[in-house]
This record gives sequence, structure tokens and C-alpha cells, in this order.
Amino acid sequence: MLSDSTQKTARQAVLDANVLTKGHFVFADGSHADIKLEMDNLWSSPKNLDIVLDLLANAEGLPPADVVLGVPTGGQLLAQELVRSGRVKAPIAMLERIPGGKKQDFRFVSKEDEQLVMQANSIVIYEDVVTTLSSIAGVVKLLKPLKQDIHSLAIWRRGEVKSKYHQGIKDHYLVEEILPQYVASVCKNTKCRNK
Ligand SMILES: [Zn+2]
Repeated sequence: MLSDSTQKTARQAVLDANVLTKGHFVFADGSHADIKLEMDNLWSSPKNLDIVLDLLANAEGLPPADVVLGVPTGGQLLAQELVRSGRVKAPIAMLERIPGGKKQDFRFVSKEDEQLVMQANSIVIYEDVVTTLSSIAGVVKLLKPLKQDIHSLAIWRRGEVKSKYHQGIKDHYLVEEILPQYVASVCKNTKCRNK
């Protein structure tokens, strides 16, 4: 876990960027929630984005990466900006969702991206929000966890990581704070259609 001051600074920057939104939300795994982290809003708040990017680049406990990846699309945008701005001095390999595939089905954009990753010993995968770690597990499927040192770093862990997704990876977060979510049958939100 990262230091208290890192967590506090990250949390405040995220809140100041109006990322926390209220409403009625249904997540990819079918659970319902009254609060959502809309990390896209961070990009409309350059000062807070800079704070978060600096914290991601300087997070303790991660080895220097030979190559970085990001979960499409939010995590990959962060990874691209970390590399473009010179905060992270490693090349980025690009991923894309497999058209018509499941939400966690990814592939390399080109053969060059794949080769870059296959030659790497140390890999960092960036993500914006983690609920169960399923999306990051989708990226790890493309890697060689027995041979490579694979770490992930996300801005916020909002749920409990499922052990079936927690294979071959060391996961890190700027903020770890569970936000409530419910199975559809017990959702009390007035906008819920399951009433
Ligand atoms: Zn609901």
C-alpha cells in the first residue's frame, strides 16, 4: 500500500476534478451503484490530472518498467500521457479491444507492439479504476506471468479484487476506498428498473 500522504493527495485531486458522480449505474459485472468514478472528467481538469500523473509516475514499490501498457481505453490514455510527458521513461505498447469480443478481450495493435512486450522482463500496466481486477487480468492473458515481472497501477480501487483475476500480477493503487455496490435484486435506487 502507498503512503498515507500519497493516498490523501490522490484522493483530493480526484474529488477536485469532479470525478465522483451520483446517479444510478449498472457495471459490466451486473452490479448496481449510486456513485460512480467518472475518470474521464480528470482530463477536463489539467491541474488535477498533473497531480495524479505525477503520483502515478512516482509511486513507490514498482520496479522500472521495460515497457508499459494501459487497459483500453482509460488506462491506456494515462499510460500514453505518462510516456508522452516524459514522466515514465519506457516505451508503450498499444492494445485494443477485440471487436465483438467480451469487455476484457484485448489484442496488440501491431506485431511491433507484441514484440516489444514479449522481449520485456518488467511490465507495468496502468488503469484508472479497478473493481474486481477483471480488465487487468484480460491484459495479463497476453503476457508471460511465469517469466515476466508484471505490476499494475491504478488510480482507485473501488471494489474487492477477485482471487481468480489476481494471478501472476502485483497490483498497486493510489487510493483504496470501497464504494458501495449492490446485486440488482437489493438495489434501492429510485431510478432502478429492477423494481
Ligand atoms: Zn439498480
